[in-house]
Amino acid sequence: MTQVIRTAAELREKVAAWKRSGMLVGVVPTMGALHDGHLSLARAAREQSDRVIVTVFVNPMQFNNPADLEKYPRDEAHDLALLEAEGVDVLFAPGVDEVYPDGFATTVSITGITEPLEGAFRPGHFDGVATVCSKLFGMTQAGRAFFGEKDWQQLQVVQRLVRDLNIPVRIIGCPTIREADGLAMSSRNVRLSDAHRAIAPRLHEVMQGAAARIREGLPAEAALNDARAALAEAGFGAIDYLELRTVEGLRPAADLSEPVRMLAALWLGDVRLIDNIAV
Ligand code: AMP
Repeated sequence: MTQVIRTAAELREKVAAWKRSGMLVGVVPTMGALHDGHLSLARAAREQSDRVIVTVFVNPMQFNNPADLEKYPRDEAHDLALLEAEGVDVLFAPGVDEVYPDGFATTVSITGITEPLEGAFRPGHFDGVATVCSKLFGMTQAGRAFFGEKDWQQLQVVQRLVRDLNIPVRIIGCPTIREADGLAMSSRNVRLSDAHRAIAPRLHEVMQGAAARIREGLPAEAALNDARAALAEAGFGAIDYLELRTVEGLRPAADLSEPVRMLAALWLGDVRLIDNIAV
C-alpha cells in the first residue's frame, strides 16, 4: 500500500521511524501526471534505497507562465494507482500552503549554471526549482534523490545546489524514457493536438541526425542550422534554443573537443517541448 501524506510533520515522523531502523530513504520529486519516465525513476529508487517517497507538487514558484501553471495536467488518483503498482511507500502530496505557508520569505538562487538555456527563456524558473528542491530535501530527509536526464540543466542545477549547501543527499541522474517513436515522455505531451503529436517525434529524429553529422566532422553550427531549418519545415513553431553545450558546465561548445550534449527547447502550438541527447 502506498500511503498518501500531505503534511511535513507527518512525513517527518514516518521517515524518522524508517531511519531509526537504519533504512536508506530515496525520493523522486515530480509534478505529477505521472508517466513511464517518472516510474523509471521510482524503479531506480526502489532498487537503490530501502524506502521510496515520490513527491507530487505542482510548484507555482517554478512556473514563469501563469497559463502553463493553470493548464498543467493533474490526476492524483491515477498517479496513486501507478505508484501502488511500483511498490512506492509514500506519495507525498502537500498543498501549496504546506510548502509555502504565510510569511514564507526564502528564495534559493544559483548563479552561473542557471543562466543560459532554460534560465534565459524562463526567468525565475530555476529559483523555483532550487527553492522547492531545498524544501523537499529538508522535508523528506532522503539520502538519495532521483532526477531525469530529460531535464539535463535541472539535474546540473540540483547537483550544484546540494554541493553548495552541503545538503546530505546524493543526486542520481536517470536516462530519458521515450515513446516508441522517439518523443521524450513528458506530462505536457497530453496537451498536444493529434496533428502536433504526429510531428513531435521529428524533434528527436532531427537532433539525432544533427549529432551524427557533427560526429562525422560537419561543423556544429552548420549541422544545427540545417536542423533548425528541418524543424521549421516539419511544422514546429519558435525554437527557443537548439545548441551544443559542454556536458557539465553547459558552456557553449563549437566542436567535440570536450564531452558535449545537444539541448533543445521549442514550441509546437502552445506546448513547449524540451529534449537533449549526448553527442
Ligand atoms: P516533472 O514532473 O516533469 O517535474 O519531472 C519530475 C522528474 O521526472 C524530473 O527529474 C524529470 O527530469 C523526470 N522526467 C520527466 N520526464 C522524464 C522522462 N521522459 N524520462 C526520464 N525522466 C523524466
